[in-house]
Amino acid sequence: MKIQVPENIASIVPYPPGKPLEELEREYGVTGSIKMASNENPWGPSPRAIEAIRESLVNLHRYPDGSCYRLTHALADKLGFSADEIVLGNGSNEIIEMLVKAYVQTGDEVITSHPSFLMYQKIVQVRGGVNIVIPLSRMQHDLTTILAVITDKTRLIFLDNPNNPTGSPIKPVDLYGFLSKVPESVLVVLDEAYVDFMDPELQVDSFSLIRNTKGRCGVVALRTFSKAYGLAGLRVGYGVMPSQVAVNLHRVRQPFNVNQLAQVGALAALQDEAFYQQTLRRTREGLIFLQQEITKLGCKCYPSQTNFFLVDVQGDATALYESMLYQGVIVRSMKPYGYNEMVRITVGSEEENNRLLGALAHCLRELSYV
Ligand SMILES: *Cc1c(COP(=O)(O)O)cnc(C)c1O
Repeated sequence: MKIQVPENIASIVPYPPGKPLEELEREYGVTGSIKMASNENPWGPSPRAIEAIRESLVNLHRYPDGSCYRLTHALADKLGFSADEIVLGNGSNEIIEMLVKAYVQTGDEVITSHPSFLMYQKIVQVRGGVNIVIPLSRMQHDLTTILAVITDKTRLIFLDNPNNPTGSPIKPVDLYGFLSKVPESVLVVLDEAYVDFMDPELQVDSFSLIRNTKGRCGVVALRTFSKAYGLAGLRVGYGVMPSQVAVNLHRVRQPFNVNQLAQVGALAALQDEAFYQQTLRRTREGLIFLQQEITKLGCKCYPSQTNFFLVDVQGDATALYESMLYQGVIVRSMKPYGYNEMVRITVGSEEENNRLLGALAHCLRELSYV
């Protein structure tokens, strides 16, 4: 074989998913392990989603509805948009990919922050785009510097709000000021994967920003069923955007990008308001509880508007991560992101939170961090 791989592909570092539980148990010989590393919903999918999926299984010999008619219309009604302003994807990851495919050609620039969601830069690199990466400033998107690096080659700006991994949100006034200065030739993508968990007073009104683009740059909001709706394994996300943008995303997407089970499962989850509200309440309670208890252990916890938070463990984060694995608890080391002494912890169920606290106390002592 003599086939050459292009340099932009050869230099990609694959996305590091959280360690799967099965792999942990196999490698470390532990059982009953728990994963608090991937910001998933610990209370499972909504029972209504499971039921809808079960009923839909008999139709698996058919292609899914390529237009996602029912789910798109349900979202449109709920959010107050029309169906041609909503695009569904195989996770919001796929919407990120569609945006880059549609708008970024070789040599075009895309601005992102570091650290932030790793997929933006990866997809830009695949498409031969140029990543312009701006470090967070005090754990927040550095909007001033982002404005300063916009050129006539800039096509997209990705802002995860709240940011992953810091959990910090952009102040609405800062964002409004920022958007008023971004050229109209640039599209600003607000990745709102965790917006459900935010205090309502801190939320940006992204929907009115999308509607009123007169004399201003376009705005796209990305949402997902993977977090608050508990359907990470199903892969459904969506973007809300001006219809002129949606048209281009439909041009580049695969015809059946959201599978049939995902369409019916997401629709049922969307209608299960009680499950959703319960997730938000229990997440908030869990976050407060974990932060209180971890602070008592001598670590510093960072405030978060999401279902995860950063902890300064005051010692090598990867060593702590490894040590936690032997206790059967998976967290995320932030060392690969440049935060050498931080781990990111996802709020778990009440039982999981207690289990994590026991393991963390044990490991901190064992490593003499506190
Ligand atoms: C989890 C997450 C997503 C969601 O991705 P899906 O493909 O919808 O599962 C998107 N953006 C950020 C910042 C995330 O953390």
